[in-house]
Amino acid sequence: MKVLSVQQPWAWAIIEGFKDIENRSWQTSYRGGLLIHAGKKFDLAGYDWIRDNFPMVPMPANKGDFYFGGLIGMVDLLDIVKNDPSRWAEAEYFNWKLGAPERLPFMPCRGKLNLFEEPTCRVCGCTSYHACLDGCYWVEPDLCSACV
Ligand SMILES: [Zn+2]
Ligand SMILES: [Zn+2]
Repeated sequence: MKVLSVQQPWAWAIIEGFKDIENRSWQTSYRGGLLIHAGKKFDLAGYDWIRDNFPMVPMPANKGDFYFGGLIGMVDLLDIVKNDPSRWAEAEYFNWKLGAPERLPFMPCRGKLNLFEEPTCRVCGCTSYHACLDGCYWVEPDLCSACV
């Protein structure tokens, strides 16, 4: 599945179902399931912006309460538009419309630029959320322990 890396606290706000738009300077023809990867950086100005504009959103109080550096959940990329009426939309960007947010167990993995493919075992094709039947873990970024 495709993955999009998003800085915290934005990634949290998406997966918890508050933020229905992701603003990007670029777009893609891809539509459908999208895993959300929480990046390693924390956007403190973004944290303050959410607190000021959406005081009802129950954001964790501390940076340490967020996940960093891994997959945290999944959404549907429904469409990409300009000037979406959502309050999360920024006019100068492409507004990626997101639906059906689903929180998933945190899975550490490296983020990349643009859309990227989720880590997949090069031998058996298993992934973080579809591990081998008897369980497995990553011994290399693209090799699981069942295939060594
Ligand atoms: Zn494998
Ligand atoms: Zn495996």
